[in-house]
Amino acid sequence: MASVVAAACDRVAPLVIERLSVPLAAEIRVEVRATRFLDDDNTFGQVIVGPPARIVLGAACLEDRNRMEMGLAHELAHLHMRGPRWDRLPYVLEEGIAQVIELEFRGNMQIDPSLERIDPSQSTWMFALTLQEARELPEDEYAFLYRAARGVVERIGLSRLLAMVEADRLSVEDILDALDRQEAVQATGG
Ligand SMILES: [Zn+2]
Repeated sequence: MASVVAAACDRVAPLVIERLSVPLAAEIRVEVRATRFLDDDNTFGQVIVGPPARIVLGAACLEDRNRMEMGLAHELAHLHMRGPRWDRLPYVLEEGIAQVIELEFRGNMQIDPSLERIDPSQSTWMFALTLQEARELPEDEYAFLYRAARGVVERIGLSRLLAMVEADRLSVEDILDALDRQEAVQATGG
């Protein structure tokens, strides 16, 4: 079992770090817990920044290869976004990036395409939340944020968003600006 997970991690990690243009964390330990979900009956995986860096996956992630790779990719992405360069990245965007990268490993799995459409001007609260503040949200508000996260990153575009991280342009205004411009591009059919 442990070797199956380690082999999957070896397959997935290089792709994740290539997407994020970051160096690979020196050592990552992956644990699988017998429970389907972790802690809150809802979470499939967790990261512990360490050192040593650890990823904990719930047993549901072992049900098939795609699910395991998706779980690993998601948590590896989170892990690699917890460094200094990412300090100012709002949590909702970190979550969205992890979801977008995870989807690259979905294989033949059916993924719910319905994304929460957010009105950027009504959703600025989202971009101001830290990880800790997001965790403390009431369950329905966190669920909304989680569902909206992927849509926001897909609308801005992963490469554009990574360029914003690189340029340290991550204020709420910068993000709204990026979203508005994408709306304008889509409206003109560009
Ligand atoms: Zn996540």
